Amino acid sequence: MTAYQYPAWVIPVHTATCLRTGVRGGHDAARPAQPGSDLCTGCHRAFQRLLIDLSAYPSVLADHITARRGTRYDTTRVQSSPTDYAPTYNRAADVALAELDDWTFSLVRTIRRECPQMSPVHRSMRAGEALLAMARWHTGWLSHYPGLGPSWLGDMIRLQSMCRRALDAHAPRFRRVLIREGVCMQEVEDTDLGPIICGAPLVGLIPPGGGTRPAEIVCSADSTHQRIPIQDWILTH
Ligand SMILES: [Zn+2]
Ligand SMILES: [Zn+2]
Repeated sequence: MTAYQYPAWVIPVHTATCLRTGVRGGHDAARPAQPGSDLCTGCHRAFQRLLIDLSAYPSVLADHITARRGTRYDTTRVQSSPTDYAPTYNRAADVALAELDDWTFSLVRTIRRECPQMSPVHRSMRAGEALLAMARWHTGWLSHYPGLGPSWLGDMIRLQSMCRRALDAHAPRFRRVLIREGVCMQEVEDTDLGPIICGAPLVGLIPPGGGTRPAEIVCSADSTHQRIPIQDWILTH
């Protein structure tokens, strides 16, 4: 058995029974915890499976939000034409992706800060890549982490069902309509000649069952760019 190393302030645990016994998304029967960890063998395996499973979601979720795969993560200038905006917008996918991103990068920070092993996991990775790299290199260190192993496992089960629900065919979709005046003014890069703006067309989001009036004006290429409430748009146009 490998002994994993944690910072000095982490208090080692010696629980006899897996902490995922009798919890939601866990197992009913009491199973012995692997020595030096809070989880049973089955839960350690599930930990790795879930990291791999979650790694597939970021790009799929992004397809439900932006016009083109991966646009959200591009650091280069976004190039869009008025025809490539997606006709619908899935807000649940946007929320799920943001949560998955936050969760993934909090783990990346923990690994960079605390894991004694040299790590290929890096903040500049996309979330999907980072999750796969964690599955490959750090599953044991993460799942054995005293106290946090079981709670990360619980987080992943929750995130997985959140992603599944967001991609459900019945999830409400916002209609998107192209706004003819104006483009997204979000600065995407700073150069010697000044900032480069996104320049993607703007789209109006019409809530499900919302008639013809958009509730919000957003960038068609990246949902994290500027969002303009419709009242503000009407006042300035
Ligand atoms: Zn277990
Ligand atoms: Zn933009």
